[in-house]
Amino acid sequence: MNHYELLVSNQRSFFKSEKTLPYSFRKEQLEKLKKMLKIHEKEIYHALKEDLNKSSYETLTTEIGFLYSEIDVTLKNLKEWMKEKKVDTPITHKGSKSYIVPEPYGVTLTIAPWNYPLQLAVAPVIGALAAGNTAIIKPSEFTPATSGLLAKMMGSTFDQNYLAVVEGAKETTQRLLELRFDYIFFTGSTNVGKIIMRQASEHLTPVTLELGGKSPAIVDKDANIDLAAKRIVWGKFTNAGQTCVAPDYLYVHEKVKQKLMKSMKKQIKSFYGKNPINNEEYGHIINRDHFDRLSGLLADGETIHGGKTDSEVRSIEPTIIDGIAWEDAIMQEEIFGPLLPVLTFSKLEEAISVLKDKEKPLSLYYFGENNKSQQRILDSLSFGGGCINDTLYHLANPYLPFGGVGNSGMGSYHGHNSFDTFSHKKSILKQTTLFDIPLRYPGSKLAHNITKRIMK
Ligand code: NAD
Repeated sequence: MNHYELLVSNQRSFFKSEKTLPYSFRKEQLEKLKKMLKIHEKEIYHALKEDLNKSSYETLTTEIGFLYSEIDVTLKNLKEWMKEKKVDTPITHKGSKSYIVPEPYGVTLTIAPWNYPLQLAVAPVIGALAAGNTAIIKPSEFTPATSGLLAKMMGSTFDQNYLAVVEGAKETTQRLLELRFDYIFFTGSTNVGKIIMRQASEHLTPVTLELGGKSPAIVDKDANIDLAAKRIVWGKFTNAGQTCVAPDYLYVHEKVKQKLMKSMKKQIKSFYGKNPINNEEYGHIINRDHFDRLSGLLADGETIHGGKTDSEVRSIEPTIIDGIAWEDAIMQEEIFGPLLPVLTFSKLEEAISVLKDKEKPLSLYYFGENNKSQQRILDSLSFGGGCINDTLYHLANPYLPFGGVGNSGMGSYHGHNSFDTFSHKKSILKQTTLFDIPLRYPGSKLAHNITKRIMK
């Protein structure tokens, strides 16, 4: 048995021991997880600064604080979520009761990306543990400081046979994927998502795929332009644009474009100063490959704001690019960096019909005051989730399921949805033995006639 086989086998034995099942055990582990994060807060700030130049404010709000809130909501509701749920029983089943029992799958694998390397590795696991599973986390190889810290913290807090971190690159994931898991939760790119699903199918392991895509921010002619500018600039340039739900591109009504551009430039200066590259609060690009890829995309259109790059620290200014056509290279792939291409429309219906032909994005943001237009967007376009008159904020509400659709993923999590994702719903019918209605059995003409009348 190699190291990975042994780990999975030990976790399976741990799961079979039924230790993970009681409410008291699950609660204790979640409390331990929160305490672990609290004790190591300082190291977490340092690690994220080292990996992504994440400011302490961003680390607090988008990584640590996010996890505290998920743990708190889970602890507050877990007892209720674990209860079996009674459902109706049809008259044909007289004498019996029906209910749904949530049960853990068993040994779970969470594979995480680099852009929110702590949050995206730990948030799914909150659901996995709450639902009574064991968990293995494979964090990203591109954030060695955070992934190393995660392994160290988890290693000294939890029994490996219950919760373990396996560090490594894609080869490590490949080795893990050869083994049988009971649930796989993957966050990453669409292409790798396909590989994960293909391999999971060998063992018929169910998957959640949290993927990416090109999420539009649509600004209509009646939008509150200054607020739209502020919220789009915040949503796009947080973490230097390396956010799965960041507005990928701007799709603005031609009548308000100039006003919006002016306001956005002002906002960028007010958030990041005149020289964002030297701003300690502004994120860096994860690695040289991504820096080069993004620098290449600057060739399209006309840069009307930003555009400066510094290869030494891998930083790219918040950049707005005008004069972009749908055929340009920047519109063919998820940007995942601080470049915002601008496209225009003259009628909302025209915009809708263009967007209908695109892959379903992870998020969509619509800015406009008219209720009918807002509704029209929701009725006509399919996307994972999003906001009206805001960006990113839907993700921070633990009462909303978070996930993609089509090319942007399948399944969802956060709050109760995380618990549901990691639980199989076992359907139970409990029959009485006090009497036995003969209707379903063969051989009786009367039974046949009555059943025919009921099941019409
Ligand atoms: P990625 O798909 O390259 O890597 C994700 C994970 O998969 C990493 O742990 C990596 O080691 C592993 N991996 C990579 N190639 C593999 C392979 N061939 N076989 C097995 N495992 C492999 O993604 P990334 O670059 O780390 O992250 C960026 C992508 O993630 C973007 O597309 C972004 O939109 C998406 N994302 C989605 C969400 C979401 O919640 N939907 C959140 C963050 C990021």
